[in-house]
Amino acid sequence: MTWHAQLALVPALACLVAASCSGKSDDCASNPSTLRRFNQLNFHADTCNLKWTHGCTVLDKHGGLQQKQAPFSLCDAPHQPCGLLPIDAYTLALQRNDFAPGSPSVTLHGLWPVSAGGSGETNQPYGCLHGEEFDEAILTTFGGPLSYFWPTDAKYHNTMQCFILSEWMKHGTCAVIPGADGTAFRLPQDAYFRTAFVLAGEFNANAALREQLQDLEPLISTRCVQCAYLATVGWTDTDVASVPRMSGDCIDQCFACGDHWDACPPAQLDSTVLLDPSNAPPKKSDSSSNGIGNASFPPLEFGMPALASSDNISPWRGTWRSFGAEQLGSGKFQFAQTFTDNVLNVTTDSPYPQTCTYERRGPGELVLRCGAEHHLEDCLVQRLRDIGGLETAFLACNHTGAPAPASFYAAMDTPGCGNFLMFRCKASAAGCDFSPDAISAAGSKASESETESESESESNPKPGPVSHSKPGIAGAPPALLGSWRSLQVSSHYQNGLARWNFTADGQASLQWPNYPGRGVQRYSVSHSDEDPSLVLLASVSGTITACRFQFQYQPVYSYAVLDCGALNQPAEDKDNMQNTQWAMGRCNPCSTHCRYSCGPENDFCGAGSCDPADSGPAASAGALPSPPRDAPAARKDGHDWCTPQDTSCWPTKTAIRKLEQALDPAVPRLGLRWSSYPQPQPAPVPTGSTNNQPFYGLGDTPAGLKALYYYEDVAEMQRPCFNPAAGAAAWNRASDICKAALHQNEYRDWNPFIVVFPLNERHVAAALTFAARHRLCIATAGTGHEYNSRNSCPTGGLLIRTILLKDKAFLPTWGEDPALAPAGAFRFGAGAVFTEMHAFSAEHARVIASGWCSTVGMVGFHLGGGHGPFAPSMGLGVDNVLEIEVLQVGRDAHGQPVVHKKIASHRHNPQLFWAMRGGGGGVWGVILSMTIRAHAVPDGGLSRVFIPLNGTFCPDSRPYGYQWLRAMWTRFAAWQLMLNHKVSTQPGFFIDTSKYAADGDLCAVTWQFNFEYFYAGGQTEPDYILFRDRLKDVLQATAVQEHNFESAYEYLLSMPPDKFLLAVTNPLPAPHPPSDAATGSQNSVFVSRQAMETEFASTMMDVLDICVASLENPDPTSPDPAGHRCGFHFLYTSLTGNLGSSQPGDTAISPGFRSALMMWNARTLTTQQSMDTLYRLGPNSYFSESSYVMHNWTARYWGQEEYEQLLAVKKAHDPGNHFWCHHCVGDDPDDAYGEPLGAAADFVEGYESQRQLRLG
Ligand SMILES: Cc1cc2nc3c(=O)[nH]c(=O)nc-3n(C[C@H](O)[C@H](O)[C@H](O)COP(=O)(O)OP(=O)(O)OC[C@H]3O[C@@H](n4cnc5c(N)ncnc54)[C@H](O)[C@@H]3O)c2cc1C
Repeated sequence: MTWHAQLALVPALACLVAASCSGKSDDCASNPSTLRRFNQLNFHADTCNLKWTHGCTVLDKHGGLQQKQAPFSLCDAPHQPCGLLPIDAYTLALQRNDFAPGSPSVTLHGLWPVSAGGSGETNQPYGCLHGEEFDEAILTTFGGPLSYFWPTDAKYHNTMQCFILSEWMKHGTCAVIPGADGTAFRLPQDAYFRTAFVLAGEFNANAALREQLQDLEPLISTRCVQCAYLATVGWTDTDVASVPRMSGDCIDQCFACGDHWDACPPAQLDSTVLLDPSNAPPKKSDSSSNGIGNASFPPLEFGMPALASSDNISPWRGTWRSFGAEQLGSGKFQFAQTFTDNVLNVTTDSPYPQTCTYERRGPGELVLRCGAEHHLEDCLVQRLRDIGGLETAFLACNHTGAPAPASFYAAMDTPGCGNFLMFRCKASAAGCDFSPDAISAAGSKASESETESESESESNPKPGPVSHSKPGIAGAPPALLGSWRSLQVSSHYQNGLARWNFTADGQASLQWPNYPGRGVQRYSVSHSDEDPSLVLLASVSGTITACRFQFQYQPVYSYAVLDCGALNQPAEDKDNMQNTQWAMGRCNPCSTHCRYSCGPENDFCGAGSCDPADSGPAASAGALPSPPRDAPAARKDGHDWCTPQDTSCWPTKTAIRKLEQALDPAVPRLGLRWSSYPQPQPAPVPTGSTNNQPFYGLGDTPAGLKALYYYEDVAEMQRPCFNPAAGAAAWNRASDICKAALHQNEYRDWNPFIVVFPLNERHVAAALTFAARHRLCIATAGTGHEYNSRNSCPTGGLLIRTILLKDKAFLPTWGEDPALAPAGAFRFGAGAVFTEMHAFSAEHARVIASGWCSTVGMVGFHLGGGHGPFAPSMGLGVDNVLEIEVLQVGRDAHGQPVVHKKIASHRHNPQLFWAMRGGGGGVWGVILSMTIRAHAVPDGGLSRVFIPLNGTFCPDSRPYGYQWLRAMWTRFAAWQLMLNHKVSTQPGFFIDTSKYAADGDLCAVTWQFNFEYFYAGGQTEPDYILFRDRLKDVLQATAVQEHNFESAYEYLLSMPPDKFLLAVTNPLPAPHPPSDAATGSQNSVFVSRQAMETEFASTMMDVLDICVASLENPDPTSPDPAGHRCGFHFLYTSLTGNLGSSQPGDTAISPGFRSALMMWNARTLTTQQSMDTLYRLGPNSYFSESSYVMHNWTARYWGQEEYEQLLAVKKAHDPGNHFWCHHCVGDDPDDAYGEPLGAAADFVEGYESQRQLRLG
C-alpha cells in the first residue's frame, strides 16, 4: 500500500458508513437492514432521524431521510483497504489532496474513535453509547483549520459543514481517550477537534511519521491519539499557524507496539493534564440500550473497564480479598489487597511483598512496585462480571519483570505470571465484613443500598427451608463439579483459603489448608430439579443446608458464589453454615496435563462446565449452564451458522463485492502458475490437469487468480464439482469456483459458498470479519491435500485459501531461544509447500524435517503431527515448529466477534502452541506463518535406497507368492525393529486384482512392493550398508537403486511433477455415503515396537486373507467397484520410534504416535475388518492419514484425556465457535460418520431433499 494513493488510510468503518445511509436506526423496528447494526451513532435513538440538520440529507424514494452521497468514495478502490479495528484504536483517515489549493498535501478525512470490527456503539470504549449533538458553533470557531485540513470540493456541491457533519463529526462526538493516570475521559468537542488538527498537522510536517503509518495500515494507536491530545494542552488559538507539533518522544509512543496493534495498551504518558470526571459519558446513555448498567461488567477479554461509574475514577480503591488462580506457585495463599490513592497494601500469609505502590497505566492496568527493593512487577487488572453481590476482578502480575500480559488469556498462558481472582462486596451488600472499606460501599447512600439489595434479593432470593421429602437430584450440578479455591465472604474470611471439592459421585468436602487441624467437613450433595442453582448439602450429622450456586464461566478460569442460607438444624451444630457465602474460583481446562496447573479433579469439561456458550445472558443472571449434549442446543455444540435460507445473515452480492474490494482485487495473483522444474511446484497437481497446472490452471490470465470466487447461484452450491463419470479431461472445464475450492476426496458434496485468496494478514482479517459478521462457517485450506474433506463446511460458508501466502525468510538465529534451533530457522507464509521449502532451505545449505510428498503444505502437515523422511533423525513436524502466527476470532468486551492476532510459541501462548502441534487442523484460527527449525544437512548428504519388488498371490510357496509373503513379513518386522534414527522408510504395498477372473486363479493377483527409504548420512557409513544389505536379504532382492543427494530439493527434482496427484472426486461409488462398509480415505494405526515384534506379520496376513476372501465372495458395499477388499498399504517407519530417535513429550500428538515404530495405512477395509485386524495393533490413528468414518475418533487421534484438554483450548481460543471441521477438536465426539450438526444438519437435509425433487 502506498500512503499517497487516494485515501491511503481508510478504516473498515468507512466502508460501512457509505453503506448505511438509509436513514433508519437499528433501534427502529422498521429498519429493513439487519446488517446495519454498526452505526447507530448516526441516529437519534428516539426518532431514528439522522443527526445532522444542515442540508446533509435528502429524501429517499420512500420519503425517508437519506444521507447525501459522500463526496469521495470511501472504500471502493483497491488501494483503499478496509482494516479491522480493535477497541481503543483510533483511526485517522487521510486523503491525498489534489483538488484544494492552499490546503496541505494530505488532508483529513476523519478521526475515528473506533470499535471492534466497526460494530458500533456497543463496542465503543468506555461506554460511549449515543454520542451527543454536534455543537455547530465549532464550525465557525475552527473555520480556518477546517478548511485547511478539511478542504471541500465544489465539484460535489459539498459544503464543509455538510461533509464534516455527515462523515466525521457524528463519530467524533463521543471521543473518549485514556488520560495520564489511566482514567478514561471524554474529550470535549473542542479538544477533540484540536487533537485531530494536531495529528493532521504532524502528519503533513513529519515524513517519518507518514512513513511509519504507512506500515501500520489504517490505525492510529491510542497512544498516538493521547500524544496528539497532550500537544493541544494550553493551545487556545484557532488559526492554522498556531497548530502545535507533537513532541518527538511522544511520537515514539505511536509506534511502541510495532504493528501489534491489537495488543497495544494505551501509554502511560507523563502529563499534567487534569482529568475532569464530568467529561465522562453520561450515565443515562451508559445504561440505556443494551442493559449494561454501571454496576455490572460484561466479561472482559480485550476491553478495558476504565470507568466503573462516572463519579468513581478509582474503582479499585478499597479492600479486595484474593486468591491465586492457579494451583501452583503464587496461588498457594490468599491475601487482601487494599488500594488507597496510590498504595496497595498486601496482607498475606506468604512471603509475598507487603506493600506495593501502584500507578495506573491505563484504564485497566496497574503497575505495581512491590517490596523493599522496589522489584518492579507489571500487572494487568481487569474487572469481571459481578456475581452474587460481589464485585470481581482479575489481577495478573508478571513476576519476571516482563511487561504485563495483554489480556486475561495471555495472562493465564504466560509462564512466570501470577494470576489472582479478587472479590469484594458490592455497595449494596449491607453489613459485609469481607471488604468493609470498599469505596463503593462507603460512598453509597443508605436508601440506594436498600433498594438495590431488595431488588437483588428478589431476583436472587436466599434459599428457603428444605423439604426432606423433596431432596432433588443426587449429585452436584455439572458446573459445580471440581475443586474450588474459596474464601468465606460473610465471616471467617480471615481464616484464608478454603478448598471445596465437588465430585461426580455426589460428594463434597471442605478443607482449610491453613488449618489442617480442622480436618475435612464432608457433605453429600443434591440439587433441585426445577432450579438447578439450588444446591443442597447434607452433612454427616444430618444437617441439610440449602445453597444458591451462581456460576460465571470465563475461558480458562471460572468463578462462582455459593450462598448458603437456610437450615433445618440449630445454629450450634458444628457443620452449621447459616448465612455463609463463599467466593470460589477454579481452573477450567481439564486434564492432568493442564498448563494452568489444573488437576484431574477439575476434569469436567465434558459435563458442560467449560462451554463458553454458557457465559451468555443466562449465566450472567446467575443461572446454571444448560445440561450438556442431551439437550438439542448442546448437540449443536454452539454452532449457529447462517444458511442460505436465512436472509438476515446470508451475504448479499453487495456484501460479497465489498469483501472483494477489501481484498485488493486488482492486485495480480500469479503465484500458482508453474512452468517446470527446477522451479518448485507451488501447489499440487489435481488429477488430469492439463500441463500439470495446480487448480486446473485457474487464473491462467495476466491478472492471475481472482481475490474471491463465489456461487452466483447458491442452488449450485451443493453438488459434486468433479463428476467421476465425466473423466479427468472434463474436470479442466469445471467452473472457477469449483476449481478454487478443489480439494481431495469430496465425500459430502459440501462446497464453500465463497473462496478467498488472501495475499496478506489484512485480507485474512477482512475475510474473518466478514465471516463472523455473517455467521458463516469458516474453513481453511492451502493445497487441499487434506484427505478427509476437513476443509469444507456443511452450510457452505467461507473457505480461506492461504496458498498465496508465500513469504519466506531464513533466520540464522532463532531469537526466542537460540538453543532450540542451533542451525537457525525458516519462517514461511502459510501457503508454503514442501517443494518450495526444500528449494529455499537448499539455498542455505539446510534441510527441514518435511513429509514425503513434495506438494503437501506446511500448515496441515504440522498441525496434524507430520512424519517424513527425516523424522527419526530430526523429529516429527510438531517437534520442529518454533512459532505460529495465527489470526483468531475472539470476543470483545461485549461478546462481539473481534479478529486478533496471536503468536504461539514456547514462550507465548504455550497452551495454544501445544494444541496446534498435533491437535489437528481447522479449528485454531487462520495461520499466517510458521517458523520451523532448520537442520544442517547431515555429513555425507542424504542417501536413498529404492527396491521395487513384484509378486503374486499364487497360493503355493514359490518365490514372491502368497506363502513367500507370509515369511517375508516376519523378516520385514525383524528388520524394522533394528532400524536406528538415521533411517526412515515409506514402503508401499500395492495389490492389483484387475486381472483376477472368477475362476479362482490367485496367480492373476499381483502385488508390487515399492520399498523406499532415506538414510541421513553418506553411503559409505557402516549403518547405511548394514541396513541396505539386510533389507536385500529381507526382500530377497537383487536390484537396488541407490542415490545420494546434497539437499532434499535435489531429490525432489528427480521426481515426476505429478507424482502426488490430488484426487478431487468423491472416491466412494455413488450413491454410497461414507459408512462402515466404505470408510473413506485410509484406516491407519500406529504400531508400537512390541506389536511389531509380536503381531504385525500375522495381522498383515489376516488383512491379506480378507483380500483373498473378497476375491472369492465380492462385497458389493466395497468402495472397489469389483467388490474386492484389497487396495494398498503404506507402512511408514518415518516416526520417532526408531532406536535412538528422540521423543519429546510436549506436543499434543497421542502417546501412540510418539512412541510408534510404524504407521500402517490400509485402504478398502471396513470398520469391522479394521477393528479385527490393524486397529488391534494400537489404540491410536494418525489424524492426517485416517479414515473418514471412525468410531471413538477422539480417543484414536489423541486419547480421551488429551482430547479434553484440546477441547478446552479450542473453546478458549475460538469462543464464538466459528471454526469447525470433520472429526476435528470440537466436532461431535459421538458421531463416527461425519453427519452435520444442528442447524447445519437441517440445512443439508433440506437441501438434499430439494435437490432430489429438482432431479425428479
Ligand atoms: C499425497 C499425500 C502425501 C502425504 N504424505 C504425508 C507424509 O509424508 N507425512 C505426513 O505426515 N502427512 C502426509 N500427508 C498428509 C498431510 O500431512 C495432510 O493431508 C495435511 O493435512 C496436508 O496439509 P495441507 O496444508 O497440504 O492440506 P490442506 O488441505 O490445504 O490443509 C489441511 C488442513 O490444514 C488446515 N490448514 C491449512 N491451511 C491453514 C491455515 N492457513 N490456517 C489454518 N489451518 C490451515 C485446515 O484445517 C485444512 O483442512 C500426505 C497427504 C497426501 C495427500
